[in-house]
Amino acid sequence: MQLLDFEIFKPYPQVQTFITTRQGGVSQAPFDSLNLSYAVADTPDNVNTNRQRLATHLGISVAQFCIPKQTHSANIHLVTKTDIGKGSSLTGSFIEDTDGLITHEKGACLMVFSADCVLTLLYDTENQVIGATHGGWRGTVTQIAAKAVAALQTNFGTKPENLRVGIAPAIRACCYEVGEEVTAAFRQNFSYAEQFLHWNSTSNKHHLDLHKATQLQLQAVGVAPENIEVKELCTYCHAATFFSSRHGKGITGRFGAGIFLR
Ligand SMILES: [Zn+2]
Repeated sequence: MQLLDFEIFKPYPQVQTFITTRQGGVSQAPFDSLNLSYAVADTPDNVNTNRQRLATHLGISVAQFCIPKQTHSANIHLVTKTDIGKGSSLTGSFIEDTDGLITHEKGACLMVFSADCVLTLLYDTENQVIGATHGGWRGTVTQIAAKAVAALQTNFGTKPENLRVGIAPAIRACCYEVGEEVTAAFRQNFSYAEQFLHWNSTSNKHHLDLHKATQLQLQAVGVAPENIEVKELCTYCHAATFFSSRHGKGITGRFGAGIFLR
């Protein structure tokens, strides 16, 4: 199994993070091979096997995964002891309508899924609390990543300057044409929207840099630029390594990014 990881969390042995790729699972095309999501047309048996392989690789149990039902919302859920394992299998219960998780529970592995969307992992080096978010353009406009920072502040007294944030591969400006409704939504919400909206004279459309938009919204709430690591890989350009919804024309699997306290 080939996982990627961030450098920014390496100095902190109390926390472990990972990003999955397409490699190492049992699913058949177009979900080949490490699809982690039940919400696509892959078989649940394959997803169960893939999740088991991932858990084994990480040295944890599947029942430690906390996986929200993502809806492109701006909802953040505080994971308590009784939430550990929610979303980890089809037979248990779920955390509904949620795109961000935070917790201080050791043993909870927060995991979010993507096929082009931006996944962020957050770690408070002082208070030993963690978070994970998923955001496409909607979640980025409604500031899911900044809302996770706010939720950490409210619930745990996190100081943004103590946060380390990893941002996983996502579709990048090279491949992410967007329509006028998207550019309008960003311009309405961000005074600095032109820093991540780029006019492309070949496609005759704006291209959106979701990574940059996420990075800037985190900086706007006090996370230092040097404490944010962006894995600057485009999921569409690297569709053999990562699931890309646009590349697969909507029919593909999901990769994950996860974080847990040791
Ligand atoms: Zn690209």
